[in-house]
Amino acid sequence: MFVTVRDTVDRPSCKATTALAPTAAAENIAVKINLSIPAGVKIRRAKLSKMAQVKAYHKIRSLKETPTRKTTESTIALIQDFEKACTGHAPTPERIWESVRHKDITRQIKSWLWKSLHGAHRIGHYWTHIPGFEERTVCRHCGEPESLQHILIECPNLGQARIWGLANELWRGKSGSPLPTPSMGMILGSALTIFENESRMKLSGLNRLYQILISESAFLIWKLRNESVIMKDGAAPSVHEVHNRWVSLMNERLKIDQFMLMPAFQTNLIVWHLSGITMLLPLIDVHSVTDHC
Ligand SMILES: [Zn+2]
Repeated sequence: MFVTVRDTVDRPSCKATTALAPTAAAENIAVKINLSIPAGVKIRRAKLSKMAQVKAYHKIRSLKETPTRKTTESTIALIQDFEKACTGHAPTPERIWESVRHKDITRQIKSWLWKSLHGAHRIGHYWTHIPGFEERTVCRHCGEPESLQHILIECPNLGQARIWGLANELWRGKSGSPLPTPSMGMILGSALTIFENESRMKLSGLNRLYQILISESAFLIWKLRNESVIMKDGAAPSVHEVHNRWVSLMNERLKIDQFMLMPAFQTNLIVWHLSGITMLLPLIDVHSVTDHC
């Protein structure tokens, strides 16, 4: 059994050891420590000296493999259900993980989506068994149990309804149809949803707009929640702030896409992919939208 030095510092043996330590540290000759195993001691684990490297590697890999978490499975199922309802086909888990790394999604949002699929955010249930932090299991803004779903599509005080309303307005203006009702399946699987014309040709510009619109809107709601809880002592964002942050965010994305359309980046493929969102520029104007608040 090991005990901390702090508990034994007053013992004579400990004092003697402490007194010898400086002398030993100043020695030029390395002290040989007897590492032989006493007779009668039975070694039950694998001997490294007798184990092949490949066998050790496989053993370590098997120890690291953990069973799929229930949260991950249920989140994957939500995405599959949503896609099946929209397209008639449920994507495989591999296809879902691949979609999280889609090229049109920013690196920061890719990381957030990956954590969301794993239920790895430190919110709600995460704090249940941490003494002193139990109050963090409920939403600070409305008192309901906190979860990612609550933050993104249910909480009445975080501006999520306003953001999805703006996203719907923009989407309807471009596509002629309303956005699907926001759900976890829609948000986390945005890069999986593909829109086609009557000839079953993919509408690349529209698909790109959808992925950006959904992922950026959801991530903005997440950021507003974090700013409120961490930096503003729980103060909810105002309607004007939510509105202007969303408009500013979308305009910023348009600027980036316009920059990519400059000759140095211009290829037929990029022009085709970006044409959908670039044409949206006249639809978003911070000042005209602010007047409607
Ligand atoms: Zn809430």
